[in-house]
Amino acid sequence: PAAAAVQPPRQFKLDPQSELRVEVLPDATLRVRLVSGTAEIFGTELPPEGWLTIPPRSKIAIFTWHGATVELDGVSESEYTSDETPMVIYVNTHAILDARRARARAAQGGDLEASQGPRVIVVGPTDSGKSTLCKMLLSWAAKLGWKPTYVDLDIGQGSITIPGCISATPIEKPIDIVDGIPLEMPLAYFYGHPNPSINPDVYKALMRELAQTLETQFSGNAESRAAGMVINTMGWVEGLGYELLLNAIEIFKANVVLVLGQEKLWKMLKDAVQSKPNIDVVKLHKSEGVVLRNSKYRQKTRSFRIKEYFYGIANDLAPHSNVVNFSDVSVFRIGSGHQAPRSALPIGAEPVADPTRLVAVNISTDMVHTVLAVSYAKEPDGIISSNVAGFIHVTDVDIQRKKLTYIAPCPGDLPSRLLIASSLTWYEQA
Ligand code: ATP
Repeated sequence: PAAAAVQPPRQFKLDPQSELRVEVLPDATLRVRLVSGTAEIFGTELPPEGWLTIPPRSKIAIFTWHGATVELDGVSESEYTSDETPMVIYVNTHAILDARRARARAAQGGDLEASQGPRVIVVGPTDSGKSTLCKMLLSWAAKLGWKPTYVDLDIGQGSITIPGCISATPIEKPIDIVDGIPLEMPLAYFYGHPNPSINPDVYKALMRELAQTLETQFSGNAESRAAGMVINTMGWVEGLGYELLLNAIEIFKANVVLVLGQEKLWKMLKDAVQSKPNIDVVKLHKSEGVVLRNSKYRQKTRSFRIKEYFYGIANDLAPHSNVVNFSDVSVFRIGSGHQAPRSALPIGAEPVADPTRLVAVNISTDMVHTVLAVSYAKEPDGIISSNVAGFIHVTDVDIQRKKLTYIAPCPGDLPSRLLIASSLTWYEQA
């Protein structure tokens, strides 16, 4: 494409409760500055002074409650203001959750049920603004001093770690506009594919592991317990996708279901949980500002997420390249995806379909460009129930010399020799 035309710095005067929607190009920088008033990006306030550099490809809304003037500098793909936003409904939802947190805190020391803050699950079709609403609810809560836990079940995009993972992390302060979700201590379980239909039983098993670990953490931490969870989900809301949403509500004991932008889904979920009186299913409008993304674009963002893990959001990290002997590591796949043929079994044995079975994988050149997770498990048997320490990207496999070359975000030896294979790939030229 031709180089974008130069755009001089420009100011926008925003009326109360309106927003400036901006799409940043993939290869140009855009800076934003608050000139007067107050404004926020997805729940995090703009600093009163100084320029913020918005990462490439971001699609943001700079919203003001009381009016503001903001300035943009650099080239953008699009920018326009709108005074039609669902922000009042969103902030009211936040206020209700906040009251529940306060109630939970007041009940501390009493019964476990009462001291549990809201467990919010945000559902809706693709591009309904789920991740964005999660960010706002988390940042508004953190601004008031709560430390809610963010749980991301969206293996297609993966806002906490990389795609193919389900993960959770405490949010202790409003989410940084530039750096995003903090990465210091995510609890991540590796599924290894961007789509749950490849092995839904593994997806469910990992949800259960994550939920159980959080449950244990909450039982020893009244503060996180009262702050509750905000759970982001996949945009797949039909068939198996719908079934997995019901599973998630049950597994994480969600008590507030926020349904974005789809009447039908709201009705279905309401009917499905009506026998459980303590679950509120709430319908919320989606924002017209949410940018639609097609599957090619999604595939690309997946790739960029993987790249970001190794190279940093601003391309400011240098990953470390390392070599291991085949004999130094063991690679497994969780769930074979297909059953062993009868002919491969001992005579008389029946094939058992265990979808969460662990399968040892031979290292081959097929692994080049794929991502492997490094498990915290001590023994292969523990892989499915263990979270992962991090990820490596295979850059070369030398069959003759039996050596595997990879990049990792940190130098030094791998924290474990047990690796989990995946179908996630990333190519240098992506
Ligand atoms: P998916 O199901 O694919 O994960 P989603 O429902 O989580 O999608 P979001 O990721 O929240 O949708 O939103 C899609 C894109 O739209 C994001 O890039 C987000 O930053 C952008 N966006 C959301 N709300 C607005 C807004 N009001 N103005 C401009 N951009 C917005």
